[in-house]
Order: sequence, then structure tokens, then C-alpha cells
Amino acid sequence: MRARAGQGGVYCSQLPVSSLSVTSLADSSCVRPPPAPMMHLGVWTGSREQRCFLGRVRGHVVCLLLLQLRWSCSLCGGLYTQSCSSAQCGSSSSVFQSTVKLVIDDGTGEAHVWFSGAQVRALLGLADSQWEGLQRALRVRGHIRVYPRGRSLVCDSEDPLLHFLLCVCSSEVVCRQLSLTCRKQKAQRSEEMKRFSRGDRDFMTRVTPPLKLTCTHLHSD
Ligand SMILES: [Zn+2]
Repeated sequence: MRARAGQGGVYCSQLPVSSLSVTSLADSSCVRPPPAPMMHLGVWTGSREQRCFLGRVRGHVVCLLLLQLRWSCSLCGGLYTQSCSSAQCGSSSSVFQSTVKLVIDDGTGEAHVWFSGAQVRALLGLADSQWEGLQRALRVRGHIRVYPRGRSLVCDSEDPLLHFLLCVCSSEVVCRQLSLTCRKQKAQRSEEMKRFSRGDRDFMTRVTPPLKLTCTHLHSD
């Protein structure tokens, strides 16, 4: 509404034309944390900064060092085959656990990265049906440990499951470019002096152990 004032001015009065009502307060747990900063492995390895324990890394997989698949007792954590391996336990429920340790290189440095659970299936590029098939195949023996660099504990090369997993681990699907968010592990080995022999000479050199990271999120891009 408005009314013209006597000497050219305008008076306004406002009327409410809409209303806003608050139905609920935002759930603070849904607020996404800011994305982790992009980290170069060379810089991260040398950094003693404790604050930056979460970082995003882009690099290519050099090789897989270890793949471990295992049925564990959900009560005591022991190996579970048809039943719990502990005679006293008597539990009848089990969980499937998977771990991968691999080497990633981003051009500035290398790191050893640990993956677990659903990340392993995505990392290996297996379909849901293949992943379920693997779990079924391991029901009897309970676990398998694959060292794709040639030290597999199960040395029977006739073992079809081991053969399959070795093929998967060295495939182009696995050895690809990855983008991941990682947490720097608390226990990092410090620099070591190592002795090398070359002919009749000994050399001492400082060796920086690889940075140890745990993958918290495997990005799909
Ligand atoms: Zn048990």
C-alpha cells in the first residue's frame, strides 16, 4: 500500500505476502566435510606435519603386493571354515574380509596403500556375481593369500582359484590410474641406513621407506 505524501515524497507500508516456516533443523551429521587436499606423494613422504593426515592422491598402480581374502568368525575373529576354528567359541556366524596392499606412483614418489572391504571388489574390477562366487569358493578352505610378486603361500600352481586371482591382480584393469582419498598411517618407518655391496666396495646409503597409506575412499573418476 502506498500513499502519496503532500510534498512529493512517497510513504510505503509493507504487507506480508508470503510466509516461511521451519519444519526441522538440519542434521549436522549430513554436513559433508571439506574435500581432502590434493597431495603429492613425494611431498607427503617428507612431511612430518601431523595435521594433514588425510589427502587425495592421483597416481597409477605399479603392482599389487598382497591380496588376502578370508572368512572370519564374527564373534572371536578366528578363521571360519564350516565352523569357527576355535573349539571353545561355537559361533555360527562369519564375515568375509578382504585386504589389498599395493604400490602407487604419482610421478613425485611412491606409497604403499591398503584397501579393505568393498574397495577391494572395486579395485579388482570384479562384478558382483564374481565377488559372490569368490566368497562361495572360499567357504571350504576359509582363506587365501596371494602375493602377485611371486611369493604366494599356496605354491600349487594347479590351484584354479589362485591362478584366477593371480591373473586378476596383474591385469590392466587393476594396474590403472586411480584417484583416492587416503589416510596417512600413524606408524611410519623412519629413514634407515642401508649397506650395499658393489664389487669389493661397500656403500652406505640413506633409504626412505615407502609412505604407508590407508584408502578411505576410491573415487570413480
Ligand atoms: Zn569364533
